[in-house]
Amino acid sequence: MIRYRAAWILPIVSAPVRTGFVTVDDGRIVAVSDRAALPPSGNLETIDLGNVVILPGLVNAHTHLELSWMRGRVPPSNSMPAWAASLMALRAEQQGEPRAPIESAISEAHGFGTAVVGDVTNTLAVDQLLRESPLAGAMFYELLGFDAKEPQQVVGSALARLNALADRREWIRTIVPHAPYSVSPDLFRAIAKAAGDRPMSIHIGESPDEMEFLRDATGAWRELLEQLGVWSDRWEPPGCGPVEYLDRMGLLNERLLAVHGTQLPDGELVRLASVGATLVTCPRSNRWTGAGTPPIERFYASGVRVAIGTDSLASVEDLNLFQELGYVRRLAPHVPARQLLESATVHGAAALGFQHEFGTIEPGKRAALIALRIPPGVEDVEEYLVSGIEPEAITWLD
Ligand SMILES: [Zn+2]
Repeated sequence: MIRYRAAWILPIVSAPVRTGFVTVDDGRIVAVSDRAALPPSGNLETIDLGNVVILPGLVNAHTHLELSWMRGRVPPSNSMPAWAASLMALRAEQQGEPRAPIESAISEAHGFGTAVVGDVTNTLAVDQLLRESPLAGAMFYELLGFDAKEPQQVVGSALARLNALADRREWIRTIVPHAPYSVSPDLFRAIAKAAGDRPMSIHIGESPDEMEFLRDATGAWRELLEQLGVWSDRWEPPGCGPVEYLDRMGLLNERLLAVHGTQLPDGELVRLASVGATLVTCPRSNRWTGAGTPPIERFYASGVRVAIGTDSLASVEDLNLFQELGYVRRLAPHVPARQLLESATVHGAAALGFQHEFGTIEPGKRAALIALRIPPGVEDVEEYLVSGIEPEAITWLD
């Protein structure tokens, strides 16, 4: 049994504890307190960590680790469909998804203090590497098909591929649809039916072009679908926003992770909130891809549960969730730092189905804890943590 003493403890479920103790045993949290109360018996080693804050490992609710080889290779754009077209062109040149960049992205994410990820894959190339990694999370096997002829068959063969993978307790694996402009209504419905009670990550409301596409079936996404030869004249624009559209296909519920939501009006945010869905914001990626600036203050004001993701290295400089938090803070100066930290921990964990294991410092949960060095003179530790932390300050407690 080890008892860590630190200048600050951030349990997340409650206010920061000044000069506190976290006791861990066999990989689990046993106690957190502001007193050095000794447990009744047993071997207890106390480690004084000094001027650090202990907090739960972070939750990066949206990544695409298999795209890590594209780091710095898809230039920023002011139009998301144009950005996606250059990503697709680059991807077409490559045979498979190289392992080495995925491995280094995983260790980079972990080094930045991330314990749990919601990772999207089109190829399952990440599966073995994730299983062997220190990370836990959900692996979302993402399906596309705007002109999918046999949606049931697409879903059936995807499920068969997932079922053939080796088992590991720390991972949820499930199928998800990509986005309203890349998935047919029948494929959406088939995925909704097959996914059961697992979390459902979908890119929605990302770019203004998507809103136009759903309203009128026009614009840059339509043009791209035509260029790719997958546009279908049978597709009728639903004439509504993406949240309403997902509702019509049975996908609006508490299991939904609505990724981006950059363009969602208040009414659609409130609908997400009313069913207990999660909005996953990735503001640095939105800036890179030309999707727009996410209205982070409106996200929080709507009451929706907000989680945070970095997105892939094709649209962000690094997988440092503390840097993402720093950017969120700049876009939302009036949201309390505590709420932003909840988004990067407990809300992401709950959205991904890991609320019983990760996201807070509470007895019984996994001791996936990080310690961050605090410069002298910091009084508001929560505000400090959303100021953009560099990796050198972060250590994992084993
Ligand atoms: Zn994404």
